[in-house]
Amino acid sequence: MRSITTKLLLFLILLTGLSASSPSFDFRTGRHNNVCKDLKNDVLLYFVFVDTRTTSPWTEFDILSTIDSIQVAARWLETQATGHGVTLRVKTDYYIGDEFATIQRNLPGNSIRETIEQQNLAKGMESLNRWGDYISKIIGESLYIKEKDGIPTQKKPSNKERLIAFLRDEYQVESVALLLLVNNYYRSDISLAINTLQNEDVEFSVVSYKYPSEIAHSVLHLYGAADLGESPFRKSPRKLRIANQAFPDDIMTEVYAKSLSGLEIGEFTKYMIGWSEELDPEFEQLLFERASIFR
Ligand SMILES: [Zn+2]
Repeated sequence: MRSITTKLLLFLILLTGLSASSPSFDFRTGRHNNVCKDLKNDVLLYFVFVDTRTTSPWTEFDILSTIDSIQVAARWLETQATGHGVTLRVKTDYYIGDEFATIQRNLPGNSIRETIEQQNLAKGMESLNRWGDYISKIIGESLYIKEKDGIPTQKKPSNKERLIAFLRDEYQVESVALLLLVNNYYRSDISLAINTLQNEDVEFSVVSYKYPSEIAHSVLHLYGAADLGESPFRKSPRKLRIANQAFPDDIMTEVYAKSLSGLEIGEFTKYMIGWSEELDPEFEQLLFERASIFR
């Protein structure tokens, strides 16, 4: 009897120790959060083509085919919304200089992946925040600000937050999804949604590829969707197995080069983006990942 009690005690100590050493975070922090709350009503997807020292240059052809992909992604999101009884009107626009000029700003690391792996996810995202602010300031300087009695009605946007606020007024939408596109055609990198789980800075996505599926996936992250495939935010092999079994065709799985026509918005993602208010308890475990991924 004594040995059973000792074993039980040891087991309890071990269990407490384990849970204390690996606290988890909850993807629900990203639901109804930051600038892109629910994917409903009128939204603007705003794209910026960015050239860097280490990515392929954006050619006119690349830009035009990406604009086509953006349209495919926007219409797919609207069709999915209609299918789930949700009202959604997606406007799209993009920043483009004269003669397909892009914004030139090197990534903090040689790639998005390297930027977050050089330091850690938290610090990598901090430097991408500064990168995004610089790009937004360049866009801000090029914008036409309305004047009243010869005086500009507002200052030119000088960072991501001001740019998003400007666009929201200009396009009369409830939310603005800001997506910064780098050209990783023929290269291997990741796309990353930033600030989706906090409120200290505005959320935006850095997108590596021009597939419609990658664009739709990146937009959905901003509205609260969590990865169902391996990513910097989703690492647990057990949860990846569960996700893969339950939602093999979900848009939040690894969608690289997959056609949108074979993908869907499944139960879990629907809940995350505010298209439903209840989640089957069976999938609750997918709401958590270890907080240690940020360190
Ligand atoms: Zn993702």
